[in-house]
Amino acid sequence: MAQISIKNVSKIYKGGVKAVDDVNLGIENKEFMVLVGPSGCGKSTTLRMVAGLEEISEGSIWIGDRLVNDVPAKDRDIAMVFQNYALYPHMTVYENMSFGLKLRKYPKAEIEKRVNEAAEILGIKKMLARRPKQLSGGERQRVALGRAIVRKPMVFLFDEPLSNLDAKLRVQMRTEIHKLRLRLQTTFIYVTHDQTEALTLGDRICVMKDGKVQQCADPMTIYDKPANKFVSSFIGSPPISFMNGRIIKKERKYFFDEGKFKVKLVEEMYKSIAPYEGKDIVFGIRAEDVYDKLFVSESSPDNTVRAACEVVEPLGSEVYLYLNSGKHTFTARVGAHNRPGVNRDMDVVFDMSKVHFFDPKTEERIS
Ligand code: ADP
Repeated sequence: MAQISIKNVSKIYKGGVKAVDDVNLGIENKEFMVLVGPSGCGKSTTLRMVAGLEEISEGSIWIGDRLVNDVPAKDRDIAMVFQNYALYPHMTVYENMSFGLKLRKYPKAEIEKRVNEAAEILGIKKMLARRPKQLSGGERQRVALGRAIVRKPMVFLFDEPLSNLDAKLRVQMRTEIHKLRLRLQTTFIYVTHDQTEALTLGDRICVMKDGKVQQCADPMTIYDKPANKFVSSFIGSPPISFMNGRIIKKERKYFFDEGKFKVKLVEEMYKSIAPYEGKDIVFGIRAEDVYDKLFVSESSPDNTVRAACEVVEPLGSEVYLYLNSGKHTFTARVGAHNRPGVNRDMDVVFDMSKVHFFDPKTEERIS
């Protein structure tokens, strides 16, 4: 069993930088947890504290039922994979993969068995005699993974393992990591700044900013019910569009008044939006919730918005439209068949059951 508990953990570096600020996080046995957030938000530091590579300033970390604050990295039964692979250049692939086991004085036959097994899983059996410089970036990363796998650790820690690979290879390795995870059945903590990696790999995603956890939930909850404006903007591509406006009430109905247009809220929102009547609010809409009216069978003036189409970006399977209401810009993601003229006004329809509202001061989502 390797559940991990991070309890009230902070990290203050020499010089006073508070890199991690009172983080509480529980990772279950066999769970794949992704820590995601912009550069500098404290994800690596959190991971390194779990690994034992960084001292914990405050709080406690438990692996299984063992408090590990003062347990050296080598005794924590974890294996870590880094962005830069950290392979020994003078050793062959086989030697790189077996090195850790050799240090731990495993019998030769056991080492051979484990290295061969891992090489099989990762499809690098033919490369065991090569040195790292005779390998491509993707192959090197496989060796780094292999070196972690042979240890059969209780916990795998990944620190941006794919960020040195080109885009195509990254997608391929992402699938490999997914398969690996199903096969290994162990606990993973995976650090990335890439929201797509987070959404596709995580059982749960922990979104961080400024050393603090913003939200920790399964990918769909993070996407559909972001805790705040930051989470909604960090997760999702193209990014969600925000517009400032006001909530108004007319004939018992609530509207969002953007200045140039008004749209009616769905009734489910009335109760939670009522305190904002007459007040400023932040409106958020994702690109896939904006439709070209020409392709919508049912719409009403209550959710139709007139906007100028400033840029049309065809992406093969879909098209991004960059629209301007006269006050705010926003994005629509529409089907590939859909190519409105540039610099012309068009009517778009908002799916009002999908939009988000945020408090302008706290930036929390109003749900
Ligand atoms: P992330 O992995 O999210 O990019 P890090 O955990 O690496 O973020 O860093 C969090 C913050 O701590 C950053 O402001 C970074 O500059 C600072 N930091 C990281 N390592 C050190 C260190 N060894 N000494 C001082 N500050 C550090």
